[in-house]
Amino acid sequence: MISEKVAKLLNEQINKEFYSAYLYLDFSNFYVDQGLNGFANWYKVQAQEERDHAMLFMQYMQNNDLRVTLEAIDKPEQVFTENKEPLVAGLEHERYVTGLINTIYDAAYQDKDFRTMQFLDWFVKEQGEEETNATDLIKKMDLFGSDPKSLYMLDNELAARVYTAPSLVL
Ligand code: MG
Repeated sequence: MISEKVAKLLNEQINKEFYSAYLYLDFSNFYVDQGLNGFANWYKVQAQEERDHAMLFMQYMQNNDLRVTLEAIDKPEQVFTENKEPLVAGLEHERYVTGLINTIYDAAYQDKDFRTMQFLDWFVKEQGEEETNATDLIKKMDLFGSDPKSLYMLDNELAARVYTAPSLVL
């Protein structure tokens, strides 16, 4: 039995994941404008992953006979001028999302809701990867971002990222 508290948090997470997709599309659009189509591609793929996360939370709720309520998605409000800024905002955002996942996990743990804990295990691991990816991007930008030729090569590297469906199947 999933408690009302956990159900509410799961429902909120659907919105947060869709917002993440929106945020990363906004980053992607910024990079298109900067002429960095590889960075734009990287965040476009990231947005697809975030949409998948939202869908997984929705499916999990539906599999457990919980009513899903879709709320309005916030507008991404940050304005960027430097190429590094979205990368830093991305890491900050992923740390925030890790906190959200941990909060749901903690609520499930309090309830001895082992099913939800097991569902969330995948997201706990995923958040570790998201933070690592975001940190790596910042390191690369610090190393190579100020040299045009190196930035061009980094942009080409990020252009190679392709979307793959999530490994979690519900
Ligand atoms: Mg996510």
